[in-house]
Amino acid sequence: MRIITNPDNFKEGKFDLCAKVADFLGNDYKPTHIVLDNNSYEQNKNILDEFRDIAFAWTPDRPRENVPIYLRNIMDDPKCNCLVWISKKALAFDDALFAWVIAHELRHVYQSRKEYPVKCIKDRIKKLRKEQHYKNLPSSLLNASEIDAEVCGLTTIMEIFGREKAIEFLSAGSLRRCPSESYAKALQDVAKECY
Ligand SMILES: [Zn+2]
Repeated sequence: MRIITNPDNFKEGKFDLCAKVADFLGNDYKPTHIVLDNNSYEQNKNILDEFRDIAFAWTPDRPRENVPIYLRNIMDDPKCNCLVWISKKALAFDDALFAWVIAHELRHVYQSRKEYPVKCIKDRIKKLRKEQHYKNLPSSLLNASEIDAEVCGLTTIMEIFGREKAIEFLSAGSLRRCPSESYAKALQDVAKECY
Protein backbone atom coordinates (compact mmCIF):
# COMPACT_ATOMS: atom_id res chain seq x y z
CA MET A 1 0.00 0.00 0.00
CA ARG A 2 1.22 3.50 -0.87
CA ILE A 3 0.11 6.71 0.79
CA ILE A 4 0.34 9.54 -1.71
CA THR A 5 -0.09 13.22 -0.93
CA ASN A 6 -1.23 15.94 -3.29
CA PRO A 7 0.66 18.20 -3.74
CA ASP A 8 3.45 15.70 -3.30
CA ASN A 9 5.56 17.88 -1.04
CA PHE A 10 2.67 18.28 1.34
CA LYS A 11 3.50 16.56 4.62
CA GLU A 12 1.84 16.68 7.95
CA GLY A 13 0.94 14.64 11.02
CA LYS A 14 -2.12 13.09 9.39
CA PHE A 15 0.15 11.05 7.10
CA ASP A 16 1.48 9.03 10.05
CA LEU A 17 -1.95 8.65 11.61
CA CYS A 18 -3.32 7.35 8.32
CA ALA A 19 -0.53 4.73 8.17
CA LYS A 20 -1.17 3.82 11.81
CA VAL A 21 -4.88 3.18 11.21
CA ALA A 22 -4.15 1.06 8.11
CA ASP A 23 -1.55 -0.99 10.01
CA PHE A 24 -3.88 -1.43 12.95
CA LEU A 25 -6.64 -2.78 10.68
CA GLY A 26 -4.35 -5.08 8.66
CA ASN A 27 -3.80 -6.22 5.09
CA ASP A 28 -7.39 -7.11 4.25
CA TYR A 29 -8.23 -3.43 4.71
CA LYS A 30 -5.41 -1.92 2.72
CA PRO A 31 -6.11 -0.52 -0.75
CA THR A 32 -3.19 -0.27 -3.17
CA HIS A 33 -3.24 3.53 -2.76
CA ILE A 34 -4.46 6.05 -0.21
CA VAL A 35 -4.44 9.61 -1.48
CA LEU A 36 -4.39 12.55 0.93
CA ASP A 37 -5.51 15.45 -1.24
CA ASN A 38 -4.91 18.93 0.12
CA ASN A 39 -6.59 20.66 -2.85
CA SER A 40 -10.09 22.04 -2.74
CA TYR A 41 -12.48 21.28 -5.62
CA GLU A 42 -15.42 23.34 -4.34
CA GLN A 43 -15.34 25.74 -7.30
CA ASN A 44 -14.29 23.28 -9.98
CA LYS A 45 -17.47 21.99 -11.60
CA ASN A 46 -15.55 19.96 -14.21
CA ILE A 47 -14.52 17.59 -11.45
CA LEU A 48 -16.90 14.83 -10.19
CA ASP A 49 -19.11 15.63 -7.19
CA GLU A 50 -17.35 12.98 -5.11
CA PHE A 51 -14.41 15.38 -4.81
CA ARG A 52 -16.59 17.76 -2.83
CA ASP A 53 -17.34 14.96 -0.37
CA ILE A 54 -15.19 13.90 2.63
CA ALA A 55 -13.70 10.69 1.24
CA PHE A 56 -14.44 7.79 -1.10
CA ALA A 57 -13.14 4.40 -2.14
CA TRP A 58 -12.54 3.75 -5.86
CA THR A 59 -12.04 0.56 -7.90
CA PRO A 60 -11.18 0.35 -11.65
CA ASP A 61 -14.79 -0.41 -12.66
CA ARG A 62 -15.77 3.14 -11.60
CA PRO A 63 -15.43 6.33 -13.68
CA ARG A 64 -12.03 7.86 -14.21
CA GLU A 65 -13.24 10.81 -16.26
CA ASN A 66 -13.54 14.24 -14.67
CA VAL A 67 -11.04 13.51 -11.97
CA PRO A 68 -8.00 15.69 -11.19
CA ILE A 69 -5.14 14.94 -13.58
CA TYR A 70 -2.69 13.81 -10.88
CA LEU A 71 -5.27 11.25 -9.72
CA ARG A 72 -6.00 10.05 -13.25
CA ASN A 73 -2.32 9.15 -13.54
CA ILE A 74 -2.55 7.05 -10.37
CA MET A 75 -5.80 5.39 -11.52
CA ASP A 76 -4.16 4.49 -14.85
CA ASP A 77 -1.31 2.71 -13.08
CA PRO A 78 -2.01 -1.02 -13.66
CA LYS A 79 -0.96 -1.69 -10.06
CA CYS A 80 -3.81 0.49 -8.79
CA ASN A 81 -6.74 -1.83 -8.14
CA CYS A 82 -8.22 -0.04 -5.17
CA LEU A 83 -7.83 3.54 -4.07
CA VAL A 84 -9.08 5.54 -1.12
CA TRP A 85 -9.27 9.30 -1.62
CA ILE A 86 -9.25 11.61 1.41
CA SER A 87 -10.28 15.27 1.13
CA LYS A 88 -8.76 18.49 2.41
CA LYS A 89 -11.83 18.76 4.68
CA ALA A 90 -10.98 15.41 6.30
CA LEU A 91 -7.32 16.44 6.66
CA ALA A 92 -8.54 19.40 8.73
CA PHE A 93 -10.49 17.17 11.17
CA ASP A 94 -9.11 16.49 14.61
CA ASP A 95 -7.18 13.24 14.98
CA ALA A 96 -10.03 11.09 16.31
CA LEU A 97 -12.47 12.09 13.58
CA PHE A 98 -9.78 11.76 10.90
CA ALA A 99 -8.92 8.23 12.13
CA TRP A 100 -12.64 7.42 12.08
CA VAL A 101 -12.94 8.55 8.43
CA ILE A 102 -9.89 6.49 7.39
CA ALA A 103 -11.18 3.39 9.21
CA HIS A 104 -14.65 3.86 7.67
CA GLU A 105 -13.26 4.00 4.12
CA LEU A 106 -10.83 1.11 4.68
CA ARG A 107 -13.72 -1.01 5.94
CA HIS A 108 -15.41 -0.49 2.55
CA VAL A 109 -12.24 -1.93 1.01
CA TYR A 110 -12.50 -4.90 3.39
CA GLN A 111 -16.19 -5.36 2.50
CA SER A 112 -15.26 -5.72 -1.18
CA ARG A 113 -13.01 -8.66 -0.22
CA LYS A 114 -14.52 -10.38 2.80
CA GLU A 115 -17.84 -11.16 4.43
CA TYR A 116 -19.18 -8.94 7.17
CA PRO A 117 -22.18 -9.51 9.47
CA VAL A 118 -24.88 -8.05 7.16
CA LYS A 119 -27.72 -10.13 8.51
CA CYS A 120 -26.97 -9.41 12.15
CA ILE A 121 -26.68 -5.66 11.43
CA LYS A 122 -29.99 -5.61 9.53
CA ASP A 123 -31.82 -7.56 12.24
CA ARG A 124 -30.39 -5.40 14.97
CA ILE A 125 -31.29 -2.14 13.22
CA LYS A 126 -34.81 -3.43 12.60
CA LYS A 127 -35.14 -4.22 16.28
CA LEU A 128 -33.76 -0.85 17.39
CA ARG A 129 -36.10 1.02 15.02
CA LYS A 130 -39.06 -0.33 16.98
CA GLU A 131 -37.83 1.48 20.09
CA GLN A 132 -38.98 5.04 20.65
CA HIS A 133 -35.43 6.27 21.21
CA TYR A 134 -34.33 5.33 17.68
CA LYS A 135 -37.49 6.16 15.75
CA ASN A 136 -36.26 9.51 14.48
CA LEU A 137 -33.08 8.21 12.86
CA PRO A 138 -33.40 8.59 9.08
CA SER A 139 -33.36 5.19 7.35
CA SER A 140 -30.87 6.56 4.77
CA LEU A 141 -28.25 6.43 7.56
CA LEU A 142 -28.90 2.84 8.47
CA ASN A 143 -27.73 0.88 5.45
CA ALA A 144 -25.84 -2.25 6.60
CA SER A 145 -22.57 -1.55 4.76
CA GLU A 146 -22.47 2.02 6.12
CA ILE A 147 -23.26 0.90 9.67
CA ASP A 148 -20.56 -1.77 9.41
CA ALA A 149 -18.06 0.88 8.24
CA GLU A 150 -19.11 3.19 11.07
CA VAL A 151 -18.66 0.43 13.66
CA CYS A 152 -15.15 -0.07 12.26
CA GLY A 153 -14.56 3.67 12.84
CA LEU A 154 -15.80 3.30 16.40
CA THR A 155 -13.74 0.21 17.30
CA THR A 156 -10.64 1.74 15.69
CA ILE A 157 -10.73 4.93 17.73
CA MET A 158 -11.45 2.91 20.87
CA GLU A 159 -8.27 0.92 20.25
CA ILE A 160 -6.06 3.80 19.12
CA PHE A 161 -7.24 6.58 21.46
CA GLY A 162 -8.66 4.52 24.34
CA ARG A 163 -12.20 3.72 25.39
CA GLU A 164 -12.67 6.83 27.50
CA LYS A 165 -11.63 9.20 24.72
CA ALA A 166 -13.89 7.32 22.29
CA ILE A 167 -16.93 7.65 24.59
CA GLU A 168 -16.14 11.34 25.10
CA PHE A 169 -15.90 11.72 21.33
CA LEU A 170 -19.29 10.05 20.80
CA SER A 171 -21.06 12.07 23.48
CA ALA A 172 -19.68 15.30 22.01
CA GLY A 173 -21.82 14.69 18.93
CA SER A 174 -18.74 14.54 16.71
CA LEU A 175 -19.96 12.06 14.13
CA ARG A 176 -20.10 13.52 10.70
CA ARG A 177 -22.90 11.33 9.31
CA CYS A 178 -25.20 12.18 12.21
CA PRO A 179 -24.40 14.03 15.44
CA SER A 180 -27.41 12.67 17.36
CA GLU A 181 -26.97 10.70 20.55
CA SER A 182 -29.30 7.95 19.35
CA TYR A 183 -27.12 7.34 16.28
CA ALA A 184 -24.00 6.97 18.46
CA LYS A 185 -25.96 4.61 20.74
CA ALA A 186 -27.18 2.53 17.80
CA LEU A 187 -23.59 2.07 16.62
CA GLN A 188 -22.50 0.96 20.08
CA ASP A 189 -25.39 -1.47 20.24
CA VAL A 190 -24.55 -3.03 16.85
CA ALA A 191 -20.86 -3.18 17.81
CA LYS A 192 -21.76 -5.14 20.93
CA GLU A 193 -24.28 -7.51 19.34
CA CYS A 194 -22.80 -8.36 15.94
CA TYR A 195 -19.02 -8.69 16.36
ZN1 LIG B 1 -19.29 4.75 3.72
